[in-house]
Amino acid sequence: MSGAAASPGVAVPSVGCAERPVLRERGQREVFCGLTGIVWLHRKIQDAFFLVVGSRTCAHLMQSAAGVMIFAEPRFATAVMEERDLAGLADANEELDAAVSRLIERRPDIRMLFLVGSCPSEVIKLDLSRAAARLSERYAPEVRILNYSGSGIETTFTQGEDNCLAALVPALPEAEAEAPSLLVVGALADVVEDQFARLFAAMGIGNVGFLPPRRARDLPPVGPSTRFLLAQPFLGETARALEERGASRIAAPFPLGAEGTTLWLKAAADSFGTDPMRFRAATAAAEARAKRALEPFRAELAGRSLFFFPDSQLEIPLARMLSRELGMRLTEVGTPYLHRRHLAEELELLPDEASLSEGQDVDRQLARARELRPDIAVCGLGLANPLEAEGLTTKWSIELLFTPIQGYEQAGDLASLFARPLDRKTRLRV
Ligand code: SF4
Repeated sequence: MSGAAASPGVAVPSVGCAERPVLRERGQREVFCGLTGIVWLHRKIQDAFFLVVGSRTCAHLMQSAAGVMIFAEPRFATAVMEERDLAGLADANEELDAAVSRLIERRPDIRMLFLVGSCPSEVIKLDLSRAAARLSERYAPEVRILNYSGSGIETTFTQGEDNCLAALVPALPEAEAEAPSLLVVGALADVVEDQFARLFAAMGIGNVGFLPPRRARDLPPVGPSTRFLLAQPFLGETARALEERGASRIAAPFPLGAEGTTLWLKAAADSFGTDPMRFRAATAAAEARAKRALEPFRAELAGRSLFFFPDSQLEIPLARMLSRELGMRLTEVGTPYLHRRHLAEELELLPDEASLSEGQDVDRQLARARELRPDIAVCGLGLANPLEAEGLTTKWSIELLFTPIQGYEQAGDLASLFARPLDRKTRLRV
């Protein structure tokens, strides 16, 4: 595996076979749609606004998904399409332009506006890319207007972030320098981003950008000298768009847990020719802290069984981390979509005991979970309550997107997310 070359002091994990059987299912699915990504993206890009062009259902989804974090001036809203829009009786474009101009007048702090497509806007074939181009002419350069689809048809909720970042790629400036630069791709909590920036600096990699940026004006440059490292496993479209701009992907596992973080950083270090001794000096203390933080959780979680329903696309890196670093036992690891190229390094590390499934047929999968009765089932909100009512312990997969879990300093927090539900159940029994 290219991301884990041997170097002094870095343990190279034993690898298994990435070509393993995968159960493919195409049936009824229980997942949120891509609009959900707005909940964490609007916190990341601090001067962006997300205007969903959708129905009351979309507005309700946003409200309930983000309900806990509504504040005085949220940076997302829904332009609700009424029945007369859907029936073609009104000019939806005119109404959209009016909604955008009201919004921009009222919120001069907005520097980037995303028009987010939904099932209803797609059903009436409202062309949001033309709307974005038209509105950009009016509001550029003060406000950059882009569009992407968050529609629920055939998507999973993390694809909203993928579509959003892919829409940003054409707006990135051209990298002029010939010296290689590193681009970290995927929304990370600011605290995690800062930690990684410090680690890359200590490794001697100075020219580092992050996508998405915190501010609209800080779009990182991209070009043939850019090497990018995915921080999230669900960014297939974004990676493709970056490759079309000439950038090349650094293959690596994802930065979950002490081992995953070391291998992720090591892949960048190898790509940039960092001296192995310098790499160890930069990472050893933080890696040791992460391992220490995991120890007490290992005592609690080792031997406990896990079942993943397909939901976030984080399932495979999570399963790898929980089994290899905490000794948890994998039963089924389901993922909505298996990107074999981006997950190749993860699949090599996954123990053979895990049976993989891609896609969903929710009834059949529920039957398998009931038969296996895992200690923890990782699933979407829709399945959690019924499973809890049947006595199974669950973990909401969406929580893993709202909580900072990447990097060394967050390894203990990630483990605690899985220890807590079991602990709560034990207390309830007592
Ligand atoms: Fe429902 Fe589609 Fe709106 Fe998502 S985009 S809330 S799936 S109608």
